[in-house]
Amino acid sequence: MQHADCLFCKIAAGEIPSTKVFENEKVFAFKDLHPSASHHYLFIHKNHTRDVNDLVASEPLQLADLFSAIRLVTQREGLDQTGFRVVTNMGPHAGQTVFHTHFHILGGEPLRGFGSR
Ligand code: 5GP
Ligand code: ZN
Repeated sequence: MQHADCLFCKIAAGEIPSTKVFENEKVFAFKDLHPSASHHYLFIHKNHTRDVNDLVASEPLQLADLFSAIRLVTQREGLDQTGFRVVTNMGPHAGQTVFHTHFHILGGEPLRGFGSR
């Protein structure tokens, strides 16, 4: 279900433009506007939840929808051969800025360590 005034709901609905890399009836994936690696995609479920814990509480099978799409795209792009990272930020300490659950896919080049203090 779409959530009013949610940026990523609007992107999934095509109301705000994005560079789409995948879509099926449940999942939408697009290029991050500010890439942190040569390949940086965002995967979202069309059913709005605010973060990964909210998604699991709502309908955990959405994770299978998302990771099935991640598998298809990373195989299509050859990222499964070289490796890639999956990241989801939740809440202020992780720096979540968009409150529609999303998984970052980062790859296409060697990645530095993640997390910092
Ligand atoms: P977060 O910080 O919440 O984990 O990730 C939000 C991500 O969304 C950021 O990497 C940011 O660059 C990306 N982003 C924010 N607004 C837009 C937008 O309008 N279009 C696209 N394609 N990405 C966006
Ligand atoms: Zn949303």
